[in-house]
Amino acid sequence: MDKTAVVIGSGPNGLAGALTLARAGYPVEVREAAPAFGGGVRTEELTLPGFRHDICSAIQPMGRASPFFEFAGLDLEWVCPPAAVAHPLDDGTAVLLESALGSVDLGPDTAAYRRLVEPIVVAWRAVEPLVLGPFPPALPALRVLKRLAPAAKAALGDARSVAGSTFETGRARDLFAGLAAHSMLPLERRPSAAFAIALAVLAHVDGWGFPRGGAQAIADALVGEIRRAGGEVRTDSPVDVLPAADVVLADVVPAELRRIAHLPDRYDRALGRYRHGPGAFKLDWALDGPIPWRAADCARAATVHLGGTLDEIAASEWGAWRGRPVQRPFVILAQHTLFDPSRAPEGKHTAWAYCHVPNGWPGDMTEAVEAQVARFAPGFRELVLARSVTTPADLEARNRNLVGGDINGGTMDLGQLFTRPVRALNPYRTPIRGVYLCSSATPPGGGVHGMCGYSAALTAARDSP
Ligand SMILES: Cc1cc2nc3c(=O)[nH]c(=O)nc-3n(C[C@H](O)[C@H](O)[C@H](O)COP(=O)(O)OP(=O)(O)OC[C@H]3O[C@@H](n4cnc5c(N)ncnc54)[C@H](O)[C@@H]3O)c2cc1C
Repeated sequence: MDKTAVVIGSGPNGLAGALTLARAGYPVEVREAAPAFGGGVRTEELTLPGFRHDICSAIQPMGRASPFFEFAGLDLEWVCPPAAVAHPLDDGTAVLLESALGSVDLGPDTAAYRRLVEPIVVAWRAVEPLVLGPFPPALPALRVLKRLAPAAKAALGDARSVAGSTFETGRARDLFAGLAAHSMLPLERRPSAAFAIALAVLAHVDGWGFPRGGAQAIADALVGEIRRAGGEVRTDSPVDVLPAADVVLADVVPAELRRIAHLPDRYDRALGRYRHGPGAFKLDWALDGPIPWRAADCARAATVHLGGTLDEIAASEWGAWRGRPVQRPFVILAQHTLFDPSRAPEGKHTAWAYCHVPNGWPGDMTEAVEAQVARFAPGFRELVLARSVTTPADLEARNRNLVGGDINGGTMDLGQLFTRPVRALNPYRTPIRGVYLCSSATPPGGGVHGMCGYSAALTAARDSP
């Protein structure tokens, strides 16, 4: 084949698109602006020598078995803790989202939980094309919606209402709220419940895993496969003008596409209306020992949700949404080294955490985040050997896709969940022939699954065989 293909950006979606095209026979060149490839799947010694921290994504529940990762067949060692999430509470206990559905114990709400998620877990292979793609889904895939009508109805709701109508106990509602807050939407906004349900289902389908050694292992493996298929990946190679090639996949957000391409007015205006959500304020720590959780069960999970009750978590998300961060933010924390000691010197540990703040927020949440950890793990502060602080502006300076610190490539509300970045049957195509968007600003949105890149590349290969 003599057709040329250029991929702008080497995040998981850019690399997924590049590998798909390379295996289809295109000579592919990936151009990455940063000095290292990987975008949201990178790992560095951010604090002290020997302590390896994930710069962006830390836990990849959608990565392990997404249709793209199945296609890619990467040689990666996945680490999968027995519980997906631990959610400590002020009474010294923790609610656990065990990976084995049969082991989930939510007391009087156990049966209600199973009624909510089990039908989707069982039908996951049929549901996956609707949630992750490849998009657009084939019509027969839509039939599964009929079978799962009650769960689909709940998924379209807001987390507060669904938690309230499904569960009797505060503990189950609190767990649900923590899962829903990954949406970066207020818990009273639709479809925040969908994120809670999807993340709970993924816990039981494949667990919340991560690659041994760090997220960088995903990028390294993808780049290895692209090179094996004849493609090339260049770093320090920012694209400022749309390259001339038969196929261009742009792993960039709409604002960046508008900067580098001369777009027809109507499409340009539509992209100009694209919305970004709150930002992330991130901390990484080098620790002298494991985090001393009051609830010992927290050591069963790599992901810990720190926010207490549904009401507190809801207030935190509203604060980030409305421009006023709260004193006690909802914090998502990852403690990889309990399960993957390769990331720190012997006996030492790392931790990764972030909270949501208003988009582009210039303030400092270090004390507030550390106070939330210490609230559930007294003695935490004494273990800190070094810390790295990443503000929304730092995130954007490293990677133009993280506009104002928005880690999802754009708000994931009902108006932009599947119709991103514009309303179109196939949102990867742009009005410029041969040019496709493939970043998380396209369906299925944020997260490490490679499906935006995979779907865009499949579209391009169909358009330009
Ligand atoms: C702090 C943080 C925590 C996260 N945690 C998780 C998590 O635990 N689990 C999870 O699944 N997801 C997580 N995410 C989200 C996940 O990382 C992203 O959804 C995912 O990386 C998006 O992939 P992408 O390929 O679309 O874009 P990106 O990964 O953002 O990659 C885009 C790449 O394009 C490059 N680029 C942009 N413009 C140009 C240009 N003009 N020329 C050349 N190169 C360009 C950028 O430098 C970047 O390398 C997190 C993100 C952040 C920031």
